[in-house]
Amino acid sequence: MSSEISVKTLTKGDLIEQVFQLISEKGENGIFQTELCKAFSIDSRDGSRLVGNLEKQSLISREKMLYKGRWTYKLVIKKNQSSNESEKKPLDLSIIEGVPCISCTYQHLCSIDDDNSLYSPAKCSMIEEWILLDMDKKIVFEQE
Ligand code: SF4
Repeated sequence: MSSEISVKTLTKGDLIEQVFQLISEKGENGIFQTELCKAFSIDSRDGSRLVGNLEKQSLISREKMLYKGRWTYKLVIKKNQSSNESEKKPLDLSIIEGVPCISCTYQHLCSIDDDNSLYSPAKCSMIEEWILLDMDKKIVFEQE
């Protein structure tokens, strides 16, 4: 039985996901890039692009190493990218509760980079009110 994974029917996104999955399964020991290319029956250029994509997203690390007399990369999942859901901390969304930008009708015109824009968080009265209100809530909460 072959250990190669058929990639012909996969989209690029699916393929990247499967590559990431395989690297995660290898844990701390990681996998050599040449082995990974072999497992997915892809050439080294495509393999390099795929893992480069994951590296850019800081999901994996790539370390140059000699493997069977040739230079290749050892691919290891980054520790903070654990696939174990129980290790992931829940996001604290309370910090953005009531932020006016979510329902703002000027959101598409608002820019922090464009000094000429009429709408910017730096000169927005709605943001200012929201921050002041949030500070009031915290003060009341601390006094209780
Ligand atoms: S900063 Fe003000 S203007 Fe810009 S999106 Fe938020 S609420 Fe709207």
